[in-house]
Amino acid sequence: MEQPFLTSRVLFLSILLSMSDCAIQYDHTSPPERVLYSRTSDRITGFKDTLDKDVILGGLFPVHVSQSMGGQCSDRFRSSGFQRMEAMLFAIDSINSNSSLLPGMSLGYDIRDTCVSENIALDESIDFVLESDQLEVESCGGMSNGNASDRVKVSSVIGASSSSVSIPVASLLRLFRVPQISYASSSSALNNRDRYEYFLRTVPPDNQQAMAMIDLIERANWSFVSTIYSDNLYGEPGINQFHELAHRRGICIDLNLPIKESFLDYEYQYVADRLANSTANVTVLFTSFEHADMLLRTMTNSNRSINKAGKVWIASDSTASTVLAANYAQVASELWGVLPATNLHAPFDDYYRQLSTSSNKRNPWTQDAFKQLYNCAHNDCNVSSDYSQNEKVPLVIDAVYSIAYALKEFISDKCSAPLVWYANNQSCQSHNGRTAVLNGSVLLQHLMNVSFTSPTGNEVSFNENGTVKAIYNIAVLKVEQETSSYVLENVGYWNENLPIANRLHFYATQNENELFDDFTSQCQKCPPGQFKRAVTSSCCGTCDPCLGSNFTNTNSSTMCMTCPDNMWGNNPLTGNTHCIDIDESYLKPSDAWGIVLIILAIIGLIAVVFVTSAFIWFWNTPIVKSSGREQMILVLIGITLCFVSTLFFLLKPSPASCGLQRIVMWFSYSLILCALCVKLIRITRIFMQQSISSRPRFITPPYQIIFTFLLVACQMMLVFISLLVVNPGVKKELHHNKTNDNNFPTLILQCTTPHIALVVLQMLYNTALLITSNALAVVTIRFPANFNESRYVAFSTFSLGLMWFLFILSYVATNGSTIQTAVLSSTIQLSALSVLLCLFGPRVFIMIFWPSHNSSESGMKPAGTKDLESLPQRVPKSQTGVTVE
Ligand code: GLU
Repeated sequence: MEQPFLTSRVLFLSILLSMSDCAIQYDHTSPPERVLYSRTSDRITGFKDTLDKDVILGGLFPVHVSQSMGGQCSDRFRSSGFQRMEAMLFAIDSINSNSSLLPGMSLGYDIRDTCVSENIALDESIDFVLESDQLEVESCGGMSNGNASDRVKVSSVIGASSSSVSIPVASLLRLFRVPQISYASSSSALNNRDRYEYFLRTVPPDNQQAMAMIDLIERANWSFVSTIYSDNLYGEPGINQFHELAHRRGICIDLNLPIKESFLDYEYQYVADRLANSTANVTVLFTSFEHADMLLRTMTNSNRSINKAGKVWIASDSTASTVLAANYAQVASELWGVLPATNLHAPFDDYYRQLSTSSNKRNPWTQDAFKQLYNCAHNDCNVSSDYSQNEKVPLVIDAVYSIAYALKEFISDKCSAPLVWYANNQSCQSHNGRTAVLNGSVLLQHLMNVSFTSPTGNEVSFNENGTVKAIYNIAVLKVEQETSSYVLENVGYWNENLPIANRLHFYATQNENELFDDFTSQCQKCPPGQFKRAVTSSCCGTCDPCLGSNFTNTNSSTMCMTCPDNMWGNNPLTGNTHCIDIDESYLKPSDAWGIVLIILAIIGLIAVVFVTSAFIWFWNTPIVKSSGREQMILVLIGITLCFVSTLFFLLKPSPASCGLQRIVMWFSYSLILCALCVKLIRITRIFMQQSISSRPRFITPPYQIIFTFLLVACQMMLVFISLLVVNPGVKKELHHNKTNDNNFPTLILQCTTPHIALVVLQMLYNTALLITSNALAVVTIRFPANFNESRYVAFSTFSLGLMWFLFILSYVATNGSTIQTAVLSSTIQLSALSVLLCLFGPRVFIMIFWPSHNSSESGMKPAGTKDLESLPQRVPKSQTGVTVE
C-alpha cells in the first residue's frame, strides 16, 4: 500500500520550483478535481483538488449567507467569504510554487461552503473526517474505491469564519484529532483548550478585543455606552467580556440589547428605536456582519431612528467594515473599528483582480459570485474597481502558511532527505529507514511550535491557547479626499504586549483631540442642587433634587447635606444649592398687631405723662391730696409698666426678653391690682371704724406701700418660682404654609409656656385679689369720700375685673397660638388704660376744667355725706393718712 508513488513527480517538481522560487504558479485556470453538490439539490457545496496532492487542507468558508434562521443556504454570496476562500487557494498556490518552503510536496484542498450555518458546517466537516476514516477502513479491507490519491486524508481544516460555526466544528474535529485553524473565529469561548484542543486561530481572541475597545472608550473619555450584541457564540461571550471590563473600569452601560437569528423586521425596528432613544452617545456593536447590516439598514430607513445619526459606533471585528459603514453612512458616519492588525496583502489583490469569470475555472462559484458581487453583466468580467480586500484575507493566508510551516518542521525533524512522502497515509521515510506518520496530534504539536513571518508580514506563532498575540488596528471611517468614498483608516493600534499605559497608541499623524472632537458620552452629571441616586435600572443612577433643608453645592455629588439649624434650602422645590436663613416669625413692631400695640402704648404713655403732669401741677390741691398720693403713684407706676411691657412683647423672643415679659407683665398688673386692693381695704376699714374713736391701725402711706408690695411680692414669688420651674426660653416651630408655592417654611419663635400649675396659681392669686377688691368696691361705692374717691376706685376695680376676665379668656383661647403674645399685651394695655381712665380721668378733669371743685369745701361729695377730710375730727388728721398733708 505505501508506495512512493510520488517520488519521481516530487523530484521533478522540486527541481522545477527551485528554479522559479518567486514566480507563483496559479492553478485557477484548470477546473477542480471535483465539484461537490448537495445530496438534496443541485446546490454546489464545495470543490476539491486532492489529485496527486500530498497534504490536503480542508477549508470552511461562508461563501453564501444562510436563510430561514440559519438552517439553509441562500443564493446570496458573502463577499468576505468568497474572498477568503480565494485567499486559501492563493496561499496554497503560493506554497506549492515555493521551492524552499515545502520542496517535494504539494498541497491540495477540499473547500466547503458553510453558509454561516452551524448545521451545514457540521454536515460538511463530517465529510472531511468520514472520508478520511472510510479511507482507513476501506484500505484495510482492500476495498479501494477509485483513485488512491482521492483518499488522501484532510490533514487539517482552515476555518471557519464565525465563532458560532467554528465552535461545533472544533468539537467534532477534536474527536477525530484534526487540527483546525480559523482565520476569523475570535470568540473567547474557543480559548478553552480542554474542549477545543485541536483548534488554533490566526485571529486574536475577543477578550483582548473587548479590552482594546475599553481602552479606546476610556481614552476618548466616554463613560456611558450602549451595547448591541448577536445572541450567538460570538456576540454573547464578547459582550460579556466587554461588560465585565466596563464594570471594572467604571464605564456605564445604558442599553444592552441582543439580536437573535430569528429577528423579524419589527424586532430590528424595536432595537433601532430603543437605541435612538438611548442617552448614551456611543454604541458598541458585538454583532455578526449580517445583524449589524440589518440593524443599520433599519435605522437608515426609519425616520424615528434618525436621531441616532451623529452618534458614535464602536464596531467589533465582524462589523467593522468599510462596506457596511459606507452603505449606512447616514447613521454610521462616526464609526470606529477594532480589527486584527494586518496589512492588506497586495499580491492577493493582484491575484484576485486578475481572476475573471472565464479564467477562474477551479472555483465553480465564480460566475454567479462575480455577477452578484461585482455586477457583472457580460460573460467575462473581473472584480470591479470598488473591490476592497477583506480584512481577514491576510489571516487566511497566515493560517495556510502555518500548516505549511508545521509540515516543513515535521519534515525537517522526522523525514530523511530527499523526502519520500507517502500521501495516502500521511507519512514519510524517516532517518532510520522507518516511516514517520503525520497524524493530527503530531501536526498539532508542530503547529504549536511554528514561528514564522508570513508573506503577509505578520509574525505568526501560537500561544498555549492556540491563538496569536493580540494586536489590533484602531480604524475610523473617513471620507477619502480623491474619491469621496468612505474608507476605514487606521489611526492607531492596540498591542497586548505593551505596557498597559501604552497599549493603545495613536499614530503621530493623528490629532487625538480632533479624533474624539465633539463627542461626549458620559453619565449625566448631576448639577449642584441635585445628587446622584443609585438605581437598579442604570449604573448611571438618576439625578434627584436635594429638597427642603437638604442641599448640595458641588457637581456630581452622591448625597445631600443638611442645612444648619434655622436655615432652609434656597430652592426647596427644584433642588437647593445653598442654604438661606428661614424667615423668623414673631410679633414685630412692623406687624399690624405690633403697630396697634405701639399705638396703644403711645396713647397710654402720653396719658400717663399727662396725668402725672397734672398731678404734679396740682400736687398740693385737695383733689390730689385726697387721692392718697403714694398709692396713686404706685398705680401710675403699674400703669406705666403695663404700657412699657409692650416693648418686651415686641422684642425678638429670647430667654431674656421672654423672662422680662413674664416679670414685667405680672409685676405691673399686680402692682395696679394690689395698690387698688390695699386702697379699698383702707377705705373700707376707715369707714368701718367710723364709730370707733380710735383710728384704724396701719393705714398710713408707708404701711399702704408695704402692704401693696407684700401682696405684689407674693405674686412675684410665684413668678420667680415659675421662672425657675420652666426657664424662660424660645420655642421654634417650622411652619409650612400650604398656599406657599415655593414651599419655604417660616420659623415661628415663641416664648416657652410656663408651667401650667403655676400659671393657674398666679391667676388664682390675682383672681382672689380681684374678687376681694370687687367685693370691697361694692361695699365702698356707697361710702362718701373726698371727691368720690371710693367710687373711682370701685369703678377701676370693676373694669380691672372685667379686663382680668378678658385676660384669662384670651390666655386660654390663644394658648400655644402665635397671636397669644399680641392678645396678652393688648389686654394688659387695655386694663392699664381702663384703670387710668376710671381712677385718674375724673380727677384730672376736675383739676383742669373744674378748678372750682378742687377745694376741700367744694368736693364732689354728695350732700349730707361725710368726707374723709372730716375724719380728723375724731381721728387725728395727721394719722388718717387719707388726706395727708
Ligand atoms: N470574529 C467573528 C466571529 O468570531 C467573525 C468575523 C468575520 O467573519 O469577519 O464570529
